[in-house]
Amino acid sequence: MSGPDSPESQTKVFGGVVYECVRCGTKVNADELAQLPEIKCICGYRVLKKARPPVVKQVKSI
Ligand SMILES: [Zn+2]
Repeated sequence: MSGPDSPESQTKVFGGVVYECVRCGTKVNADELAQLPEIKCICGYRVLKKARPPVVKQVKSI
């Protein structure tokens, strides 16, 4: 039986801000970018746009 110390409980959920490289489309978490010395994609391109993660819309059922 798995207890409360399961590895899944260590998974961090970030603010949800994701940046996407306008050149290659690679998505990078804002938290990962913060750890880099400069805002830069792995491909070397520096232009990143803010990409929204998929938002689940609440649909009201009548
Ligand atoms: Zn890129």
